[in-house]
Amino acid sequence: MNSRRLVIAVDGPAASGKGTIAKALARHYGLPHMDTGMLYRSAALALWRFGGDPGEEFEAAGAAREIGNIDPDDPELRSETIGELASRVSAYPAVRQILKERQEEFAGQPSGAVLDGRDIGTVIYPTATSKLFVTASPEVRAERRFGELQARGANAHYDEVLADIRARDQRDSDRAAAPLVQAEDADLLDTSNLGIDEAVAEAIRLVDARIG
Ligand code: C5P
Repeated sequence: MNSRRLVIAVDGPAASGKGTIAKALARHYGLPHMDTGMLYRSAALALWRFGGDPGEEFEAAGAAREIGNIDPDDPELRSETIGELASRVSAYPAVRQILKERQEEFAGQPSGAVLDGRDIGTVIYPTATSKLFVTASPEVRAERRFGELQARGANAHYDEVLADIRARDQRDSDRAAAPLVQAEDADLLDTSNLGIDEAVAEAIRLVDARIG
């Protein structure tokens, strides 16, 4: 492997700022970026559209094989219903296995890459040059998500958003298959008290320190 090839793994819980940070890092280092949550959301949307049973692993796996038929710009992918369903189907090892290959391929491309998700640094690409674990308190993340929903004109209640965030954290962290956990060699970036620009600057500083 070319020792200068840069792969950056950005993991963390929902609404931690990892997506924004990952995109900014991709721009800064001139790398392609993959939002791996979209793969799980696409599987969830496929399952939803085909009327599959989320309680059945083989049906969820069937949906994961159909993600090529989902329009990546479909606004439904960003909905809370699909996020919640994604969190359920992502607990199935068969679903994770099907989506793993695409992620490994993306991370392995010669240009290097930035991937954000839950298990990039632990399972998908443990040899990443730099691993960031981006987090923030549940209250701060709920406020951000609530603000996003309001901006989109959705009818949201802060308390419900906070309860959803806590439920999703618990499901993502407690599952047996690739749980959300900070890799031992990941740098922790807590964005609770940081604005976007400060968080991005700190992320670049952490990546630069790993590049050496
Ligand atoms: O990040 P996002 O909210 O789009 O992810 C939706 C769901 O997909 C998460 O709650 C998580 O359960 C799952 N996911 C995952 N592994 C990833 C990315 C997302 O399990 N790498």
